[in-house]
Amino acid sequence: MSTINEVKQRIDIVEVASEYVTLQKAGRNFKGLCPFHSEKHPSFFVFPEQQTWHCFGACGTGGDVFSFIMKKDGVDFGHALRLLAQRAGVTLSSPEMPAKAEDREKEKLFQINEAATEYYHHLLLATKAGEAARSYLSKRKVTTETIKESRLGFSPDAWETLKKYLMNKGHEKKELVEAGLIIEKEEGSSYDRFRNRLMFPICDTQGRVTGFGARALDDSLPKYINSPQTSIFDKSGSLYGIDKAISHIRRENLVIIVEGYMDVLLTRQHGWQNVIASMGTSMTEKQAAIIKRLTKNISLALDADAAGEEATLRGVEILATSLDKAEVKVITLPQGKDPDEVVSENPTLWQNLVEQALPILDFAFDTVISKVDINKAKDKSLAAQKLLSLVSEIRDPIWQTHYVQKLARLLKLNEPDLVASMRKSQAHKRRYQSTETIKQSRFTHPLVSSPVEEYCLALLLQYPELRQTAQELSPNHFECTENREIFIRWQSSPDTFTLKNELDANLLEHLNYLLSKPIIAERNNKAPQLDLGNCVLRLQENLLKNLEAKKEVLLNIERENGGVNAELAKLEQEGINSSQQLREISIKKKEISTKGIKGVK
Ligand SMILES: [Zn+2]
Repeated sequence: MSTINEVKQRIDIVEVASEYVTLQKAGRNFKGLCPFHSEKHPSFFVFPEQQTWHCFGACGTGGDVFSFIMKKDGVDFGHALRLLAQRAGVTLSSPEMPAKAEDREKEKLFQINEAATEYYHHLLLATKAGEAARSYLSKRKVTTETIKESRLGFSPDAWETLKKYLMNKGHEKKELVEAGLIIEKEEGSSYDRFRNRLMFPICDTQGRVTGFGARALDDSLPKYINSPQTSIFDKSGSLYGIDKAISHIRRENLVIIVEGYMDVLLTRQHGWQNVIASMGTSMTEKQAAIIKRLTKNISLALDADAAGEEATLRGVEILATSLDKAEVKVITLPQGKDPDEVVSENPTLWQNLVEQALPILDFAFDTVISKVDINKAKDKSLAAQKLLSLVSEIRDPIWQTHYVQKLARLLKLNEPDLVASMRKSQAHKRRYQSTETIKQSRFTHPLVSSPVEEYCLALLLQYPELRQTAQELSPNHFECTENREIFIRWQSSPDTFTLKNELDANLLEHLNYLLSKPIIAERNNKAPQLDLGNCVLRLQENLLKNLEAKKEVLLNIERENGGVNAELAKLEQEGINSSQQLREISIKKKEISTKGIKGVK
């Protein structure tokens, strides 16, 4: 996901707006006195479902959360993005504009985590309270050396031990809350988040402690908890053990991915230094992005049970889509065993399992086929369907043929039939994908991104010769601020090269995404101009429909409280012929789909 979308997903416009405006409920929406002009009756509306706002009063304008901050704080898009990213705890990819205050704040959190790590570590090694944790570790065969090297710790069974310790060292309570180490209650009192737990410091690739994983030492549930999201900790982008493993992964050009903290510690203790743990059952895109920079050879050693297999396949899907040409293998573990048990009971067995790791597709074949009775037609068809959809994703034709042949052999089917059915399912998938885009586009106010806006920009950027077709478009047709910004600058740039130089890092990221967006027309051997004509019409249509929806809101206000006659009249004027225009658009759309290019001007 792009940084911009990530920020949008984590931010709620109602929350942001209510810091500037006292909002009251109005049906499914909120209203208040407009923060941009002075008024007595509320005409400022926030629409949570669409994550947009609109002032029906003197401003007569609206937009998304970015445009709200831009207008309210009088800043440009880049600045608004930085403010909101900070609020959302998202790191921006903008090296030339480091927000100094933000850096200092993060540095502070690293210091606090470091102090907490030292403290927990001391409690584990040298205090009587830490004895239960020590005995648990020795039962799991973790050596003192490993404990020291990984700086494991113990959080005592008390409410304020860490808080007092860190505040004595001069840290402020507010910072400890920000670091996720203490929890603040509404009335202002606070207490330690981690109590009576074995502590695993989680580091980034540079070895800085970003957060903690914590295992209960009694029957407390949940058994494992971890730091909440902070400005330096993001579970979905963390990989336990990456700091120690990073150089080994590069050198050996292989990474072994396990599930738990203990799996990392014990495999490492037995000499496997290139092992890391995903922080959940399936791999995320962010984790894949870190791994991708280190190696293309990935071996997954996850749970052998059914859930593990499902998770493995899901993780692999992510790896396969984010890692082009990655060689992903699966280490098949004995039933009911985790890597830490296997390696400490029998290191040679572990060694063999690592060496015999199966390519992911062979693993998928084994898993799927072992669960069906291939003598039953229904089972056979189900297995073929599942596996063919994986095989159809293979880009290399020789590999693909290899697996088609394998499937034919295993299911006792003939090869041409399988190939035919694969082609059919591919065609179906394509059709499904294109109806998906149409379905999405029905939401004239999508939550985080607008597929029509993005597709329209993708066409304009990838086909410079289509510039003329977009003459009827204006910035108003783009509701998402990031799209609007790119459109405005595209209008004044003669080519993509100039455009690129105009953008800051985050908009550039969005631009690159648009430049690499697949063009549906190409796949269907149609002229991209037809697609663009369609997009232009749809954007015009959305604008008009939004106008109608707004009129609806105003009519409701007028019915309930009155006092918005002037605004209604203004809207009427703006959208004077909106239903007529909508009819015209739908006629043009039909022309495009039947007559083709003649319908577009
Ligand atoms: Zn206003």
